Amino acid sequence: MIVKPVLISKESPIDQGFMTYLYGYGTPITIGVYFWLIEGAEKKIIVDTGASGDLIKAAGFPGINYQSQEEALEKMGLSPEDIEIVILTHLHFDHAADMEKFKKAVFYLQKDELAYAQNPHPTQQGWFVLPPADLRVELIEGDQVVVPGVEIIKTPGHTPGTQSVLVDTDKGKLCISGLCTIEANYYPPEEAQKMGFSAFTPGIHINALEAFDSVMKIKEKAEIVIAPHDIKYAEQEILP
Ligand SMILES: [Zn+2]
Repeated sequence: MIVKPVLISKESPIDQGFMTYLYGYGTPITIGVYFWLIEGAEKKIIVDTGASGDLIKAAGFPGINYQSQEEALEKMGLSPEDIEIVILTHLHFDHAADMEKFKKAVFYLQKDELAYAQNPHPTQQGWFVLPPADLRVELIEGDQVVVPGVEIIKTPGHTPGTQSVLVDTDKGKLCISGLCTIEANYYPPEEAQKMGFSAFTPGIHINALEAFDSVMKIKEKAEIVIAPHDIKYAEQEILP
């Protein structure tokens, strides 16, 4: 199987501290907002739905539009109705906007993520979106194989029910991380390693220790880690 990164919008400038907890504060970076198309599986699967720059701006963050989900899919000969499964890593607005566009899909979501999104802590108020009532949602608890070669692993800490997706590829197991992170979270620069950082906790978290453990779990389980906000995938059509 292969994974196609689909850039929907960008956020720029964002303080790096939103991604790497206790490191890089004051450094402005550009992050990508994507969804991910898995090709070669039994079913047509995307991971997350992304969000437009306008929606991101409405939430108070610096959003830049790139393309809509429809435009992006059309370039690949698809439409939102062709998507059979949507795996939502979590319910933050930049990962799960426009769910209603994917009318025929079944959405995979952790049970505790939905429960939390309905009543989030005040520190994360306004960051969650809820599935429309008529959406077909499969609520799961923990790890689960979705189709052969595509497995959800629970990676909590960023939100209570954050999940990530393992995909079998020619080059080994690839993990689309559900934690809002950049590549440096998994592979810190040498100077940070000297300071004792073997990885960085996601800057946004509800439980810092659990979020760090989830970063480590992803590193253990996958040969190739895809950090969902790293801008480098904007230049890559196919992963790995
Ligand atoms: Zn995010």
